[in-house]
Amino acid sequence: MIAVDRADFSPRDPYEDAPQRIGYNATISAPHMHAAALDYLQNHLVAGANALDVGSGSGYLTVCMAKMVGRTGVVVGIEHMPELVELSRKNIKKNNSELIENGNVIMVEGDGRQGFADKAPYNAIHVGAAAKGVPKALLDQLAEGGRMMIPVENEDGNQVFMQIDKVNGKIEEKVVEHVIYVPLTSREKQWSHH
Ligand code: SAH
Repeated sequence: MIAVDRADFSPRDPYEDAPQRIGYNATISAPHMHAAALDYLQNHLVAGANALDVGSGSGYLTVCMAKMVGRTGVVVGIEHMPELVELSRKNIKKNNSELIENGNVIMVEGDGRQGFADKAPYNAIHVGAAAKGVPKALLDQLAEGGRMMIPVENEDGNQVFMQIDKVNGKIEEKVVEHVIYVPLTSREKQWSHH
């Protein structure tokens, strides 16, 4: 995280430990949440790993993940708001343009609930928005031995951060903490009334 300047990605108060608005009802998550996500994924974001960042927003976490997987790794950031995909590319180009040029970071526009099958399977999947359940496509695209970190909304409306491992083809789930994320939803539900 120290290797990636949040000032390139946050329109204001980049070093405050709080989420900041980036437009389109999206936020750049708070540093402590980025740190927690990277921490849970650290043994899977190793040199040469293949990773997916769903709801890549500002692009900050995608770049952090790319720093961890190094020159031979690839991180796909998928985001459904086209304006945010554009913004993230702009943010990354400020000081990390080589990651895009060398293909270590690929920013795509699309519905992250479908994952991104073209580059699957993924050793690590991070989901930056809360879903009602775990999208099946993401489970399918998780590599053997891989780990997904995803905020999931319960029936009572509370959100938990879930750690999901694929071990010998079996899914192992664990709730690691309570969290608050923006919803993983459709583009229309997120921004239609504007
Ligand atoms: N991790 C990012 C953004 C977090 S906000 C950061 O820290 O900058 C969550 C993001 O998920 C928003 O940018 C929102 O537009 C996006 N999002 C919500 N639902 C989505 C979906 N179905 N597919 C892709 N992106 C989605």
